[in-house]
Amino acid sequence: VIVVHGGAGERHADDNARQAQGGCLVAARAGHAVLEKGGSALDAVVAAVTVLENDPQFNAGRGSALNADGEVEMDASVMTGDLQAGAVAAVKGIANPVQLARLVMEKSKHVLFSAEGAHRFARAHGVPFVDPASLITERARKRLASLGTVGAVARDKQGRLAAATSTGGTTGKRPGRVGDTPLIGCGTYADDEAGACSCTGLGEAIIKVTLARAAVDRLRSGEDPNAAAAAVAATLARAKGDGGLILIDAKGRFGLAFTTKRMSRAWVSSDGSFGSGFD
Ligand code: ASP
Repeated sequence: VIVVHGGAGERHADDNARQAQGGCLVAARAGHAVLEKGGSALDAVVAAVTVLENDPQFNAGRGSALNADGEVEMDASVMTGDLQAGAVAAVKGIANPVQLARLVMEKSKHVLFSAEGAHRFARAHGVPFVDPASLITERARKRLASLGTVGAVARDKQGRLAAATSTGGTTGKRPGRVGDTPLIGCGTYADDEAGACSCTGLGEAIIKVTLARAAVDRLRSGEDPNAAAAAVAATLARAKGDGGLILIDAKGRFGLAFTTKRMSRAWVSSDGSFGSGFD
């Protein structure tokens, strides 16, 4: 089972939202193809998020929101249900931050690298750099309400869970600002004994309620994932923010919730059935 989101938000027109829903389905199918071949949940979420980072309509990779200096500065993280995690914050000129986050998880003894340290780690591992300008789209330059952050959660044939999230952050953010996305327990969490979660929305609020970990913890008692997602999403109001999340439990049941007007998403289940939505 794989579920993906293309970000929570208010402002985009129906046409854009529908297009984002389509983009989510393409990504979910790419991730599901990996699972069908017996691939791991980690391979699946990274494949799905890579598709979304490469799709310029989403606020991740190419198409990322611009910071106050007019630059793209991205955050991403991955986590697997055996409690391994990797993340990068405030990286520039990297086409697929989610893949760099995975490298941090697999090839370093640390969890999170930021800015220049992340760039040095990328160089040392042969990750190609792209011209930072190539990640900037006309849409982002006009500071149009960017479509959201992207993320995925999956359960593979062996019952392993994984989650991944990637973002350009909030439009006009101060350089160096880091949101919830690369913070384990905030934007992303996975635990094979409970569930996996990927979040979107106002990072400053998500961090304060440690949304992803709070959501996964509710699954430990067997709570329905939709009910768990709704309960934790409601806590964002106390931190004066809005957002959403996708959630999968150890059995592969999934759920989602958002306090914004929209959150584009798509899923493909183990029997090949699929769905998508934005309202
Ligand atoms: N959560 C992201 C951040 O605050 C933004 C988003 O999800 O739209 O960086």
